[in-house]
Amino acid sequence: MAASKRQYFEYIVIGCGGIGSGALYWLSKRSSSVLGLEQFSLGHERGGSQDVSRIIRLTYHDDRYTRLTPDTFKAYDRLSNLQLMARYPQFTVGPDIVGLYQEQAGLVDAAVGNAVHIQLARGNGATVLENCPATRLTRANNGNVIVHTTKGVFECRKVVVTAGGWLNTILGTIGVHVPVTVTQEQVTYYATPHMKEFTKEKHPIWLFHCPRYDIYALPIHGNTGSKIGVDAGSNVVTADTRTFEPDPVRERTCTELLQEICPKFLGPILQTKTCLYAMTPDRHFVVDTCAYKGWSDVIVCCGAGHAYKFASLLGKVLSDLAVDGRTQYDISQFNITRDAIQDPTFKLTFFLGRGTEAKL
Ligand SMILES: Cc1cc2nc3c(=O)[nH]c(=O)nc-3n(C[C@H](O)[C@H](O)[C@H](O)COP(=O)(O)OP(=O)(O)OC[C@H]3O[C@@H](n4cnc5c(N)ncnc54)[C@H](O)[C@@H]3O)c2cc1C
Repeated sequence: MAASKRQYFEYIVIGCGGIGSGALYWLSKRSSSVLGLEQFSLGHERGGSQDVSRIIRLTYHDDRYTRLTPDTFKAYDRLSNLQLMARYPQFTVGPDIVGLYQEQAGLVDAAVGNAVHIQLARGNGATVLENCPATRLTRANNGNVIVHTTKGVFECRKVVVTAGGWLNTILGTIGVHVPVTVTQEQVTYYATPHMKEFTKEKHPIWLFHCPRYDIYALPIHGNTGSKIGVDAGSNVVTADTRTFEPDPVRERTCTELLQEICPKFLGPILQTKTCLYAMTPDRHFVVDTCAYKGWSDVIVCCGAGHAYKFASLLGKVLSDLAVDGRTQYDISQFNITRDAIQDPTFKLTFFLGRGTEAKL
């Protein structure tokens, strides 16, 4: 195709999930020439950012994340099991359980968040094409990047690739590979009959860490069920071969824990929703350019299965990298050239906070 037939945008974002829609929004604040490409329809349920709630919190297992947000080192309360049960009588926990309470945690409605970013970006003049997969990247004679899609060919100055579990399909066309393990995770909603005790006002978001698993739970939001999930370690799939079938072992693990420590949370299973994690070998983000392969104008982000809380911030960081070539945020440890990404013998470390392998 002749260069004149290519439509030019200054910036193109490939993948409009949580992080991509954030990047689109922040780019649209800096430039009137922004294109977002989504291979499916907007708001689809095949990626990592769907559903009505994601945990957002300041406390984190690793200071490379707490450094990204202000005030994260403010003290948080340590609660004995008795103090925990006094504050939240829904729990029935023994003296071996210690609670850490952090008031500023909450939930973010992911589906709404993505839609808001997209709508605001469009309001700022961005173009967003749905059902339009990017198929490959090539270099134009003038040095720009050409983005080939099923609906035409586009040319741009910078590309942001936020393709989740499909990351390597597009990056592979420029010889870049991020060793992403895609797993089919799930969350279960229980139709608790004790709804009044599991509202956002009455029940916290909680994470339960033990040697066997890390579990997270949320109060009722967006439907009538209390929500729980096991973090990571589910079946390895690909973004295209995954199923939407719930794993009964994970459902049982959640039910058994709840019977023990929070029985009123339970009720008939309302729904188990599957969702994809796209994890790097060390479970840390990648936020970098592909300069090491000669593509400094291709910027990549992988959220490693825990990024929704950072989706808008990462969008801002990506827009900084695209427009200014640098950012004020410390992303030095999320580089694509670190051992975890480049060394094929790097030991997989998927479990947040513990770093050890565990299997249900
Ligand atoms: C069950 C579950 C619970 C979670 N809980 C939390 C939580 O409590 N807190 C938290 O912070 N995080 C949580 N996460 C993680 C978080 O949701 C993800 O890290 C984040 O949403 C990933 O966003 P993304 O934009 O990278 O990926 P995705 O949302 O998967 O978006 C990638 C998009 O790119 C599109 N795409 C791919 N290839 C192309 C192409 N070639 N052309 C055009 N489009 C393309 C895809 O269709 C998709 O829409 C959870 C994840 C799951 C699955």
